[in-house]
Amino acid sequence: AEKRGSSIRVENVAQDFGAFAALRDVSIDIEPGELVALLGPSGSGKTTLLRVIAGLNSPDRGRVLFDGEDATLLPVQARHVGMVFQSYALFKHMTVAENIAFGLKVRPRRLRPPRAEIKARVDELLQFVQLDGLGARYPAQLSGGQRQRIALARALAIEPRVLLLDEPFGALDARVRKDLRRWLRDIHKRTGLTTVFVTHDQDEAMELADRVVVLNEGRIEQIGTPEELYDRPASPFVISFVGE
Ligand code: ADP
Repeated sequence: AEKRGSSIRVENVAQDFGAFAALRDVSIDIEPGELVALLGPSGSGKTTLLRVIAGLNSPDRGRVLFDGEDATLLPVQARHVGMVFQSYALFKHMTVAENIAFGLKVRPRRLRPPRAEIKARVDELLQFVQLDGLGARYPAQLSGGQRQRIALARALAIEPRVLLLDEPFGALDARVRKDLRRWLRDIHKRTGLTTVFVTHDQDEAMELADRVVVLNEGRIEQIGTPEELYDRPASPFVISFVGE
């Protein structure tokens, strides 16, 4: 791990959609380089919380700090956040290489690396996600697992300090899911990035994460290591969700 990720502090964050409270007073401290799962049933606020951390939603109350700095004041591009979505969100009309380079090419001119450097970085990333030689293909010509690896390469291209993944394996079948889990853990180890991923699958959270944040109706039920959640569940909800 040549570089480490940022610390993330979520401070008393609340998000309302009309009269509906999607997040209520959520606070979390995430260490640099930690791998954290946001776990909870559908509608519990996981994606909303991830989007607040990413800067895609601005919270109604509270704030998010990266390395102690108020990130809610920064434009999304200045947060050094890489995002991966369940549906890959790749550009269909662009090749794999163009998809990976996208985040670099849309930068303002003074922050944009020279063309040769972008190409070198794309090649390096293709190798990193073990898809060498597929740069000229289009997303439709690839499998789901390959597409998700492209999406990850694209997220890594901007050299983020934080990696955020929203149900990254949700669209994949069970066998591919298992492979990609192992692979995400490996990527996390190799990059040292602070990583937060959303899942409704307790096995996935317990198997992968250093710590798990259990959400229920926009509130945190418990934050702990997988062992802590098994050994000392904070509420019947955690027991029902995490199992015994
Ligand atoms: P989860 O990821 O845990 O399934 P979400 O964070 O996606 O939950 O959503 C939490 C709740 O907030 C859901 O009831 C959802 O319908 C609602 N919600 C999320 N985004 C919006 C939005 N942009 N407008 C209105 N309601 C929303």
